[in-house]
Amino acid sequence: MTDNLPLRGKVALVTGAARGIGRAYALRLAKRGADVAVVDFDLHSYKDYQLEAASMRGDTVVDEIREIGIRALGFQADVTDATTLNEAVQQIVGEWGRLDIAICNAGGGVGSPEETRASIVEKDLVDVVVARNLTGTIHTCQAVAVPMKEQRSGKIVTVGSQAGHRIEDNGGYAHYGAAKAAVAKYTQYLARDLGPFGVTVNCVAPGYISTGRLAPILSAMGDAQLLDDVPLGRYGTPEDCAGVIEFLSSDLSDYVTGAIIPVDGGLTYS
Ligand code: NDP
Repeated sequence: MTDNLPLRGKVALVTGAARGIGRAYALRLAKRGADVAVVDFDLHSYKDYQLEAASMRGDTVVDEIREIGIRALGFQADVTDATTLNEAVQQIVGEWGRLDIAICNAGGGVGSPEETRASIVEKDLVDVVVARNLTGTIHTCQAVAVPMKEQRSGKIVTVGSQAGHRIEDNGGYAHYGAAKAAVAKYTQYLARDLGPFGVTVNCVAPGYISTGRLAPILSAMGDAQLLDDVPLGRYGTPEDCAGVIEFLSSDLSDYVTGAIIPVDGGLTYS
């Protein structure tokens, strides 16, 4: 008997999934039937943000996935450490026999908009943000490419940002914008590389997404002013992003590769 779950029998990996948008990706893939492994520095990192903690239905996202009757694995690891990531992928394939979907979501910015203007941002901040976003994504892609090439199938999704396309008015957050632009371009190189193996590689580029971490920051920046630039007139939700991830993880997107898909209510091209 089949249960009509489109991702039943698939195995997924989601990085940066302890909270926020990555958690929504992991839960969405699990609800569509995929077994899901998650990676994060700390699977309890949601506790740092009241809104994130309030939304949790288990001790960690791993428990939440198991609660809906799906197999889950959790790794507390740094995606900038290639060795640890390779070991995690080997364990996933060892336990579940394959790896079909990888969502390279771990990332984020560090520093204030003022101290990260393009002309003054310090090397330490650049190094941290490039490592978190670009290097971590490359390591994740290289680790999952090994089983996917062998299988001659797979779906990889990287996570860019509207900041990789739009330039902030004051030139702030330059290191993050540059790192996310590089993630998008790396995605297209990887799509070219892995296409002959039947592996698709695409990038989502979220706009202003209201997570437990970001909602208070957006409000402090001025909701009305920010939303003035968003044609749909509201912030995005992690679920908005998860819908696009579901599409890029399923056979609905089998002829889509090397695409950079904004999930931003129209912000990027407004
Ligand atoms: P969060 O900071 O809320 O969650 C990201 C999670 O990833 C955190 O638990 C973080 O841990 C973890 N993480 C970061 N770096 C690493 C690493 N090297 N190894 C393992 N885990 C890591 O972010 P969001 O949910 O808001 O964003 C998710 C992704 O979407 C990020 O790549 C972000 O850049 C991107 N994005 C988000 C937007 C938004 O509006 N929210 C807009 C555009 C893009 P810790 O906190 O301990 O560092």
